[in-house]
Amino acid sequence: MSYTGSCLCGEVSLKLIGEPSRSFVCYCVDCRKGSGHLGQFISQYATDKVAVFDKNGTVAEYVVEQTKSGHPKRKQFCKRCGCTIRTLPMKFNGEVSMVRQSLVDENFAKLAPQLAMFEEEKSRYTEGAKSEYL
Ligand SMILES: [Zn+2]
Ligand SMILES: [Zn+2]
Repeated sequence: MSYTGSCLCGEVSLKLIGEPSRSFVCYCVDCRKGSGHLGQFISQYATDKVAVFDKNGTVAEYVVEQTKSGHPKRKQFCKRCGCTIRTLPMKFNGEVSMVRQSLVDENFAKLAPQLAMFEEEKSRYTEGAKSEYL
């Protein structure tokens, strides 16, 4: 099994080989701000199981220096459309990729999160909110 996906504009695509070691939703402040949502849906892979196709050099990087672990995190994103692609926590020397699982096109529904991280930081603003489509 593998999964394929892309950023919003399609300049950056990715292939994930095999199943993630774990899938989770993270509600930490960094994920909330970086994703534009209450939390970020992440699948953890060994970096050598993640192929990022970036033929026009569109992937840029921002290093988050202040982290709870004390190790910086390299956040990679598409500089054309702004989508986060993955984060490389330097706690693991770049050998672990936290992939933004919401970029997956095929078999997305198979990847249900198994864990919620920093759930106490999740805001509960949406309780009782109505649904609408734009
Ligand atoms: Zn893009
Ligand atoms: Zn987080």
